[in-house]
Amino acid sequence: MAQGVAEKLTERVKGALAGSKVERGQDASAVLMDALVQTLRETFDEAGSVDLLANVREKNKEGLPYVILFLGINGTGKTTTVAKLASMLKKNGVTVVTAAGDTHRPGAIEQLTEHANRVSMKVVSQRYGADPAAVGRDGLLFAKAHHIDCLLIDTAGRMQTNQNLMEEMAKVVRVVNPDFKLFVADSLTGNDAVSQAELFNKHTGFDGVVLTKADADVRGGAALSIVYTTHKPVLFLGVGQEYGDLVRFDPHKFIDSLFRNEA
Ligand code: GDP
Repeated sequence: MAQGVAEKLTERVKGALAGSKVERGQDASAVLMDALVQTLRETFDEAGSVDLLANVREKNKEGLPYVILFLGINGTGKTTTVAKLASMLKKNGVTVVTAAGDTHRPGAIEQLTEHANRVSMKVVSQRYGADPAAVGRDGLLFAKAHHIDCLLIDTAGRMQTNQNLMEEMAKVVRVVNPDFKLFVADSLTGNDAVSQAELFNKHTGFDGVVLTKADADVRGGAALSIVYTTHKPVLFLGVGQEYGDLVRFDPHKFIDSLFRNEA
């Protein structure tokens, strides 16, 4: 995990242990482990949790589509995750449409269309070079006109340090006013994923996180680091390349799995 986060967590564990006594014959390492697990639990609990499906249904009661804006840099698995989430929502009886907001990267619109076709989802798109905020707005108009429950907006993700990208995303947020901003991070990228999360959180804010490629990540440090740094909950884990490979993130199970081999 990110070193800064490890240091802060260590301080919190120290704080939790301050004043506690270990009796003679008591296992000191068990006391320490309890304090560590408790601190990790608090970290995830402070970030709260989100029931996306319930939120979608609540918004639909007002006769309006629920809008999810996907954020994250290229290669993290954002487009695949749009299709995975669409598939999950559809299985729960929610109708979906996607908007092709990455109008920069050559092939991005075709790639999203290909995924969308495979999960039988309609794509709203414009030409390359079009204003992503306008594409998002088109998507919203389409969803409203066709009484679609949920709009998933894909976005561009060139280089996290690109100021233009941050301005572009902030504009999409202003114009579309999404109900939920979902940040997609690649769990294999460790510290990079954390700095990307900090950057997006600063410029556009986000409401929750999907960690992709969790199937290839044995330790799960990114989840802890991102939640600790941004105080935003992880909603889902990407656990493979199939559309069914999206699972709800359970912090308590996650913490247990961290220590399964250490106990
Ligand atoms: P984007 O550039 O962020 O839109 O990334 P893509 O959706 O194109 O995904 C990049 C690559 O990561 C593709 O080869 C995906 O199949 C792969 N990928 C996405 N999510 C996962 C995941 O949860 N597990 C694994 N193993 N691969 C993933």
